[in-house]
Amino acid sequence: MHFIALLHHRMPRLNSTAPNVKLRGFDPKTWVAPELQEIKLPVNAIAHVFCPTYRDIYLEMVEGKLMPPTWERYQGRVIDEVYKSIHKECEQYVSQCKASNCDILGYLFSHQDDLIGKAKKEFQRDFDDIAAKPNEDEIRKFDEALKKIIRFEAEITSSHMDFEISRLKDANPKKIFDNFFDFITDYAIAAKHQGFGTPSIPDFIFRNTIIGDIKSGPWRDFLIYTVIAYALAYEECTGEPMDFGSILHVNLIDSRLVPIHYDATIEQLNDHLRQRFMLVRDRKMQIIKDKIDPGKPDDQTKCAGCSFQDVCWGDTK
Ligand code: SF4
Repeated sequence: MHFIALLHHRMPRLNSTAPNVKLRGFDPKTWVAPELQEIKLPVNAIAHVFCPTYRDIYLEMVEGKLMPPTWERYQGRVIDEVYKSIHKECEQYVSQCKASNCDILGYLFSHQDDLIGKAKKEFQRDFDDIAAKPNEDEIRKFDEALKKIIRFEAEITSSHMDFEISRLKDANPKKIFDNFFDFITDYAIAAKHQGFGTPSIPDFIFRNTIIGDIKSGPWRDFLIYTVIAYALAYEECTGEPMDFGSILHVNLIDSRLVPIHYDATIEQLNDHLRQRFMLVRDRKMQIIKDKIDPGKPDDQTKCAGCSFQDVCWGDTK
């Protein structure tokens, strides 16, 4: 997550390019139609547009079929948790240390096993429910990958802290940290008109101007929908604009010692993106209201990677 602070620092024009947005979450034009207001969905269920016909939402919400937990989904949840825990650990650490002994790198290294253990424990039940369990080698590789995340975030954080401590005569670690790594990770948003179940909690809000989500696995263009959903909800809840969204996209590959963030982004949430998201949201809600199965795509290859393949194509495999 601290990678996003660095990315933002390297995008100096971002602050001066606020988009001319008309579709704000506090504007009733963006609200779900009155006849669909009864339906409440988690942000991810609306924003995840993997299924070409949206049959996944019908199976889950109308037929009550749960997506079976997978090793990939479990890993995604643990990765999110590790990023957020790193930030919280740093926040706590800098509130207690002084410029004379501030050593975030050393601190996070010495706590990395704890951090990983706690994050995995949080999702133990998801792990227990995975049908195709990973083997020991896959688990070991995942642990190593989590250590890459901790190492990289520790390096980013520590180098900025050390730079400022070296530069400022009256350096105050907490002030330096809060100023540069200005993230909120537990902001609960209540937005009853946007169709989301409450509370919706984005992975992070940075400097009160960028709302963000952590995503792992392959990049998909629809990942930005999650932050549009959160931005609309934030605007409805606070009455304040949220102009930018960020996806901290994470890939963990063997041939690098650091997590890969090629697709990590900070984007303007313009009207075009908002409109596209609202169309998806309204279509999904209509499917749930009508209780009509939208059917499968013509070709199973379009379903590659979906956990519902046994449900949808089991009889034709
Ligand atoms: S298997 Fe295909 S049709 Fe069925 S929910 Fe998944 S993506 Fe949609």
